[in-house]
Amino acid sequence: ADISLKFYQNYQKQLEQLKLIREENERTKAAYEIKSQFLSTVSHELRTPLTSLKASLDLVNKGALGEVPEHLKRAIGIAAKNGETLAVLIDDLLDLQRIEAGEMKFRFKPVNVNDLVTEAVESTADFAAKLGIQVTITPCVEDGRINGDPSRLIQVMNNLLSNALKFSEAGSTVNVRVETLGSRIRVSVEDTGVGIPEGAKERVFGKFTQVDSSDIRKVGGTGLGLNIAKQIVERHDASIDYVSELGVGTTFFLDFDRLEDTQHERGSLQAPA
Ligand code: ADP
Repeated sequence: ADISLKFYQNYQKQLEQLKLIREENERTKAAYEIKSQFLSTVSHELRTPLTSLKASLDLVNKGALGEVPEHLKRAIGIAAKNGETLAVLIDDLLDLQRIEAGEMKFRFKPVNVNDLVTEAVESTADFAAKLGIQVTITPCVEDGRINGDPSRLIQVMNNLLSNALKFSEAGSTVNVRVETLGSRIRVSVEDTGVGIPEGAKERVFGKFTQVDSSDIRKVGGTGLGLNIAKQIVERHDASIDYVSELGVGTTFFLDFDRLEDTQHERGSLQAPA
């Protein structure tokens, strides 16, 4: 009887603990939902006034409201640049919220990787020119296609390219390589910039984390880009990683499953939601 009483008491205790865990889980879930909702509302609410602010600055900048005195040009330039930084941060926050809530839409279709890379390089050409860095492409010779969402993949490529540019010296070269490795296709973004210290991988792909000391940055960032990129890449059943050496450079690479001809004929493959 003693043993069964002990057993019963133990059982009651475990039930009690289970109940506490369940309640804790409910509270965590509710808090998470409130956080998501808050993030989404705030981001949307910030975006509208910012758009109008940027438009007004643009008007002043273009001289549409009359000649801008020289001494004000610099101040207006700084305001415009900060507006741009804020817009990127808000977009990143919105993207992060969407992707984590499973609300980011992906439209998968066969994508030619050489073409994709060319488009991404073109879209960052102005930024590269401003920093005095040359961007070259080493395309793959074989027909390299993957199943992907082109605009999301361009977003990932833009992030890798702008990082490579941000952390490189003027006069250097960033190379984007596309190569087939058996049934896989690899896209690499190679820079000869500052490099990433050892053991920083978790921080590099984390949220709001930057591993460099801010004085070497030419352009600000949110520390969200690579976290979003990783989540987008994973939705493609692909992987993202890098190798780096301090003071020598960094190569980020994306590995995708190559689309075979038979798969191509099936056309647009929707990824599971
Ligand atoms: P950020 O908006 O700060 O660029 P990311 O998530 O894109 O955020 O990158 C996270 C951090 O990883 C960067 O702040 C930087 O410290 C490091 N990093 C990313 N790419 C490179 C690179 N090509 N060279 C050196 N450091 C890099």
